[in-house]
Amino acid sequence: MNISKDCAVTLRLKVSDAQGQVIENGKDPVSYLHGGYGNLIPKLEEALEGQAVGFKGSWTLSPADAFGERDESLVQTIAKTDFPPGVKVGGQLEGRGPDGSQMVLTVVKIKGPQVILDGNHPLAGKTLLISAQVLEVRAASGEEIAHGHVHGAHGHQH
Ligand code: ZN
Repeated sequence: MNISKDCAVTLRLKVSDAQGQVIENGKDPVSYLHGGYGNLIPKLEEALEGQAVGFKGSWTLSPADAFGERDESLVQTIAKTDFPPGVKVGGQLEGRGPDGSQMVLTVVKIKGPQVILDGNHPLAGKTLLISAQVLEVRAASGEEIAHGHVHGAHGHQH
């Protein structure tokens, strides 16, 4: 079976950044629903379209093809007194961006009475080195398509 829309695909996926920092080590296979459900970077889905079990590939994705360029306007400084106690570097919270849309903000720095929050995706601005091996391809169930993700051992368990 070749990968096409509404296939459940299991991959061995390794991802690192251009500095060699490992983001995903590939030890545990991952399953995703193919066909633009936002489970996988679109560029990677494009590269896997039409491939079958046994296919292996590796790609270098620019930030624009991966998680986008960094947007410095998404970095905000907030007074520490506006936070509940226990705010920590690396912590994440839901907040609002400059346009009022909801986004996940990461605490990047605490500088005296100020907390610096970053609304960029943690991988924004990074060039990613990705390798993938296709381990399994099957038709997704109607329930998986309705949920927009794959169930089972390497997918969602609920
Ligand atoms: Zn589900």
